[in-house]
Amino acid sequence: MADFSKRLEENLRSIESRIAQACQRSGRQRADVTLVAVTKYARLEWVQALVELGQLELGENRPQQLWERAESLPGSVNWHLIGHLQSNKARRLFPLVKWIHSIDSLKLLSNLDRLSKELKVHPSLLVEVNVTGEASKDGFTPDELRRDWDAILTCQNVKLSGMMTMAPANENPEAARSAFRDLRSIRDELQTRLPSGGALNQLSMGMTGDFEIAIEEGATLVRIGSALFEGLQADDGLNANSP
Ligand SMILES: *Cc1c(COP(=O)(O)O)cnc(C)c1O
Repeated sequence: MADFSKRLEENLRSIESRIAQACQRSGRQRADVTLVAVTKYARLEWVQALVELGQLELGENRPQQLWERAESLPGSVNWHLIGHLQSNKARRLFPLVKWIHSIDSLKLLSNLDRLSKELKVHPSLLVEVNVTGEASKDGFTPDELRRDWDAILTCQNVKLSGMMTMAPANENPEAARSAFRDLRSIRDELQTRLPSGGALNQLSMGMTGDFEIAIEEGATLVRIGSALFEGLQADDGLNANSP
């Protein structure tokens, strides 16, 4: 087995155990939290090794890299787009993904609604919320989401499953906690404005630095990259036979 594969297996096992502990601390079932392995900075060989280890939920933030990799990896992979989607890339991307975490405008959602109808594909969509209102971030602020909610609900061909956020970077973990609580609370609020029987069960929140807090605050999808590939060098796998 290549060195990187062993290291990946250890990293995966360690993340898995941290997820399980966070679930236990917060009285949640392990099965209620899905690990999305974020492969955007990973070499294709590493991603192949991950898939062989049974990690089939994979996330990419660039549509083009996602569709290129989808061609090289087994069809059993469930792809998650976690970054911005331009409408002109939607048609090619849409049939390849099971999840899009980054619905950041009404215009994008309307486009996907038309595509859903035409192509008869229905990936789970999450509305990206910029809970802290930082100017540098994509997504709806809570006020924009309240304002646009009725329009969002007119998109009836798509499967709207929940919400996603990114906590502020480089802050203490408690700042992340409050962002995660804010996401859950805007979800709870807007869920009451769904047609009866509807639910927004999915909360995509938590990355390498804050996923345990996110699980404590109700995350159902955690998106983890760096921790998974820790200790691997970008040229591992290329020079496997060199001294
Ligand atoms: C890169 C990325 C992640 C993973 O971040 P890590 O800190 O490397 O775990 C999660 N979510 C999004 C949207 C990303 O772009």
